[in-house]
Amino acid sequence: MVAQTRRMMPPIEYVRLSDEAAGLDGIIAIHSTARGPAAGGCRLWTYDDPEAAMRDAFRLAEGMSYKNAMARLPLGGGKAVLRRPAGDFDRPEVRRALFEAFGEAVEKLDGRYVTAEDVGTGVSDMEYVALHTRHVAGRTALPGLAGGDPSPWTALGVFEAMKAAVEFRYGSGLAGVTVAISGVGNVGAGLARLLHGAGAQLVVADIDPLRCARLAEETGARIMGIDGIAAIEAEVFAPCALGGALDDATVEALRAKVVCGAANNQLAAPHVAEMLMERGIAYAPDYVANAGGIINVAAEYLGESENEVRGRVMAIGPRMRELLDTAASDGLPPPVVADRMAEELMRPEMVAA
Ligand code: NAD
Repeated sequence: MVAQTRRMMPPIEYVRLSDEAAGLDGIIAIHSTARGPAAGGCRLWTYDDPEAAMRDAFRLAEGMSYKNAMARLPLGGGKAVLRRPAGDFDRPEVRRALFEAFGEAVEKLDGRYVTAEDVGTGVSDMEYVALHTRHVAGRTALPGLAGGDPSPWTALGVFEAMKAAVEFRYGSGLAGVTVAISGVGNVGAGLARLLHGAGAQLVVADIDPLRCARLAEETGARIMGIDGIAAIEAEVFAPCALGGALDDATVEALRAKVVCGAANNQLAAPHVAEMLMERGIAYAPDYVANAGGIINVAAEYLGESENEVRGRVMAIGPRMRELLDTAASDGLPPPVVADRMAEELMRPEMVAA
């Protein structure tokens, strides 16, 4: 068994957030500032206890350090995790109070942490955060500048990564290749449209039948049930729903020789990376493929243009190719190689270079 390179380092700093009147209960974790301010979204989720929220914050903050380094962003990794209050939380004034209090907490960190939306939070929440701090992105886009919905950029990055992985594994382009997409929400649907434009054949599955039906009409995609999609005859499997899609049973059943999708944390367990390698499946590490969203969020914070975002997102393809080539020549699973590359990029001498 090949050891994972991730050391699961604790964050260098964390703050517990507590403001009973505002309903604020959570944590901000700063995993690394080696490359710049720690950036990562604010997740609002139901957690059984504060320790569960803390564990999630630490894990997610570490993931952001690797993702941001790999995308060559001048940012470290951090994350905010807020416990969703019970009761009638979605009344606008209640939600506003929580996110204003969160904005004050972000401001106290004086730019060491930059927030944005994540699961459970949205643009309007970030506008309330922005009343108290400028260390926030994921707000309404201004003309000519980066910002707004990150999903189209994530879809483009996954598309470029997939092109590179298909070229690596099959030596071909995407035309005529069958891609099975599990989850056709914001990113999955965007990816499907790009693939359709490139002449790929699509098979789609989603727990929401309407989403599949709309895409089928638009792109001629075939619709499958969510349980069978990973095992169909296809060249590529694209997990674009939730995390943990690649477990032992799914990998055993895969017929595709490329796995490349948008979902975060696709491997249900670390050993799955090795299983994929043993089965000759080229796995495009999730955080390398799906960095388009954070690239857009970072550009908004840094005041960059859409062109700069496009340049960084288009670099995902060649980066994925280099990673897959290195993994093949070193006989290692691509996620192990990706983690090593990211750790190298976090070393002080690399940051200074
Ligand atoms: P979304 O909520 O818009 O779409 C997710 C889709 O998956 C929905 O259509 C949902 O119905 C479907 N789904 C849920 N459970 C499913 C299942 N068991 N099988 C099949 N389909 C299922 O989310 P999104 O923004 O498109 O993000 C998709 C994934 O990509 C998530 O894992 C997210 O964390 C990751 N990601 C998104 C971005 C971004 O910019 N939006 C960036 C990086 C990573």
